[in-house]
Amino acid sequence: MAQVSLRDLTKEFDDTVAVADLNLEVADGEFVVLVGPSGSGKTTALRLVAGLERPTRGSIFIGDRDVTDVPPRDRDIAMVFQNYALYPHMTAYDNMAFGLQVRGYARGEIEGRVKDAAEILGIGGLLHRRPGQLSGGQRQRTAVGRAIVRQPQAFLFDEPLSNLDASLRVEMRAELSQLHRRLNATILYVTHDQVEAMTMGQRIAIMNEGRLQQCAEPLAVYRAPANRFVAGFIGSPAINFFNGELGSSESGWLFKGKDFQLDVPCSAAPPAGPATLGARPEDLRIGDSGTFGAVVRVVEPVGSEMYIHLLTQDGARVVVRAPADTRVAVDERVAVAIPPDKVHLFRDDTGERIGP
Ligand code: ATP
Repeated sequence: MAQVSLRDLTKEFDDTVAVADLNLEVADGEFVVLVGPSGSGKTTALRLVAGLERPTRGSIFIGDRDVTDVPPRDRDIAMVFQNYALYPHMTAYDNMAFGLQVRGYARGEIEGRVKDAAEILGIGGLLHRRPGQLSGGQRQRTAVGRAIVRQPQAFLFDEPLSNLDASLRVEMRAELSQLHRRLNATILYVTHDQVEAMTMGQRIAIMNEGRLQQCAEPLAVYRAPANRFVAGFIGSPAINFFNGELGSSESGWLFKGKDFQLDVPCSAAPPAGPATLGARPEDLRIGDSGTFGAVVRVVEPVGSEMYIHLLTQDGARVVVRAPADTRVAVDERVAVAIPPDKVHLFRDDTGERIGP
């Protein structure tokens, strides 16, 4: 396997900038997930690496080789698509073998590689079937098998689990993670699903409007989102945002929201001005006294815990993730505490993270 480097990669379609100045290194054997909302440029970035699109500017390296102008078939990478792209008239075996046959591999070599891949993927007994005779999960395994037999320098995955039902998605997520470890594969994986990204990626790269927002380990992103966009995108239920102004207090910074004020201990001077305070639903506490008051609108028990939807006096919607046995009733007035050491602060002009 090899490392994949994207350097200042830009792709413009007429007046749309699909990918802007993307710099990303996927280390040899690393699993990196590109995640972002629809239209953020993830698929275009992957297609650029595959060679299915030509960049407007920038370059792509696979290992030490500059492949920017190399045709797709000579890049030595394998791509797995959302729709599997299997040939319907061929058996699973032939689908997996086809790429090697057209490249002129010997019959025995092909047979060995297909059987090995099928065994790893648990589809050894299904190789005689056509895609129409396979379940969604089995088709997906066949598509992954077709990529594995190529023994490529890197794998590219484009939303490979989107067509599977929820439980199978969870199962395949774990299988792909295991496969990554077993093959020690370099993987660049695209999804719009943040849970998929968080659970599978060794690092996640969050895109918005063609620009890379942050690239780091999943928990690092969750704990210290680089900007307001990332904070709002990663986390479910989503982080709560409060608009306000930042100034100084005796102990550090003072955030003045519409419904409340909060002292945030910090030794640095505050960048005074309009700011947004973010608080994750699990960091908020409902009790007799708190930072602000609110009215309970909806209570969602999900078994292991409870999501409590609130409306503040100012009309802001807030979600609190509380223990399953929390006693609250719809229309009840409650107090909500925001622990100052758990807040995330963002400048309103740039969206950038600031603070302790
Ligand atoms: P999704 O999750 O919906 O697939 P994405 O993050 O993968 O979205 P892209 O498909 O890469 O996003 O698209 C990024 C932007 O580039 C979008 O604004 C899209 O409309 C535009 N775009 C993509 N392909 C083309 C094309 N062939 N011609 C013109 N514009 C395109």
